[in-house]
Amino acid sequence: MKIDHIGIAVESIEKVAQFYKDLELDICHTEEVKDQQVKASMIMIGESRIELLESLSPEGPIGKFIAKKGPSIHHIAIEVQNLEAKLKELEEKGYSLIDKTPRMGAGGNKIAFVHPKSSGGVLIELCEKCK
Ligand code: ZN
Repeated sequence: MKIDHIGIAVESIEKVAQFYKDLELDICHTEEVKDQQVKASMIMIGESRIELLESLSPEGPIGKFIAKKGPSIHHIAIEVQNLEAKLKELEEKGYSLIDKTPRMGAGGNKIAFVHPKSSGGVLIELCEKCK
């Protein structure tokens, strides 16, 4: 297991990208995840990534998050081997899951979110690489 990426909610990917460029880190991939109403840009840092998240709508989860908390760290994503089995195991142990079954995330990976109340206050994304 490793930290796959850290998701950061930003008001404008374009504006924040300059900061990372000045650190000699470039955006390697951008895509829109329609069902999350979000644009996601990936910045590779060694084996991990930073995922910049810009809302496409104030009604989307990132739009609501920024309205409430301002731009900041949104989630930490941990790579797991068998996501379905892990979700079942966590549910049996009584943890609160936002997604009880995996859904499609950026990059075509299977992802699921664990509620911050079960993880010490930080939204945790579990992800399983599909390629
Ligand atoms: Zn993520």
